[in-house]
Amino acid sequence: MTAGTDGVRALFRGSFGAEPTGCWRAPGRVNLIGEHTDYNDGFVLPFAIDRATTVALAPRDDDRVRLVSTFDGALVESDLGAVDRRDFAGWSAYPLGVAWAIGERHAGAERRGFDVAVDSDVPVGAGLSSSAAIEMAVAVALNDVWGLGLDRAELARIGQRAENIAVGAPTGIMDQSASVFGEADAAVFLDCRTLDVQQVPLGFDAAGLVLLVVDTKVEHQHSTGGYRDRRDACERGAAAMGVPALRDVTVDDLPRAQELLDDVTFRRVRHVVTEDARVLESVAALRSGDLARFGALMDASHVSMRDDFEISVPQLDAVVATAQAAGAVGARMTGGGFGGCAIALVRADAAAALAVDVLRVFAARGWREPVPFTVVPSDGARAV
Ligand code: ADP
Ligand code: MG
Repeated sequence: MTAGTDGVRALFRGSFGAEPTGCWRAPGRVNLIGEHTDYNDGFVLPFAIDRATTVALAPRDDDRVRLVSTFDGALVESDLGAVDRRDFAGWSAYPLGVAWAIGERHAGAERRGFDVAVDSDVPVGAGLSSSAAIEMAVAVALNDVWGLGLDRAELARIGQRAENIAVGAPTGIMDQSASVFGEADAAVFLDCRTLDVQQVPLGFDAAGLVLLVVDTKVEHQHSTGGYRDRRDACERGAAAMGVPALRDVTVDDLPRAQELLDDVTFRRVRHVVTEDARVLESVAALRSGDLARFGALMDASHVSMRDDFEISVPQLDAVVATAQAAGAVGARMTGGGFGGCAIALVRADAAAALAVDVLRVFAARGWREPVPFTVVPSDGARAV
């Protein structure tokens, strides 16, 4: 479980010489299934994990903003005027971007300066969305101390706006939604078109299963060619099919898509269309307690990303193959691809042995040492 609030309170006291008004915590997330479907108006099924970012925060009487994080220890000073000019850099773009986005979306909101200390046990850049965790922790904190009364869906939109505009990362709303709507032992089923959210009970624990995450340590970059190129292919495919987004193409439409599209674009489209179908089927399987079926869908999702969407790398394939050889219920890469993490749904008593297997396979191939760890479906952003 995530650490208590003692550390972040001490950092706040040490940096600002006062007590914080309170502490707020928001988790990272892992995506169970539904990859590259978000920007196609489709479906995703992430859950909030038991690793989170905690902020200690106090509002000020003036417009100054001061920030400190265990991330780098440096004290950042700003004010609301600079925030509204989007004059910020480095990691402070995430928390200050949230303050900016609140002002942009809620012109009437009465904002004041604040002091904030940040601590996190979400690994950074590992594909578990430490960025959404810091955004949502700050968003729930400011919502409370500024008395905004915004609902969770709006807090997620504010986080996405901060990430898209203040940080400049072209991401969907999945990460923030998982972080605010998460519930213990449940996944967050999100319709990326309507933004409708439903919690889906997972029952992993009751079934004696855990979700093992393996960070392959292969670096991925959202902004680089691969991600852009896949988005472009999806847009091209939707345009050729005469629909606003690939969400509107069904599995039955695929033969027509194959006639209309070149081979590469067709395979990109087929991944997204079948992945949407797999998310819907996963939700049905989980609701009926059919974890074996869900596992088979995870496996199929990986094949689709590897062969049709072509976003896997040998390290991700190796984790999946090793998990499947060890009898995992299901396994797949997760996240945007080209590196990052793979996940495996395994018996709780087999997870440690699988982690050892994976380390051995990587060592034998001379790959950088991966980091395996289990995650538990947990509650979303809240005051602590
Ligand atoms: P991730 O996959 O972890 O979301 P991103 O590149 O989207 O990776 O976001 C990571 C960035 O978020 C970090 O480089 C940093 O700027 C910011 N960040 C995350 N956690 C913290 C933290 N605890 N303190 C300060 N900044 C953080
Ligand atoms: Mg991120």
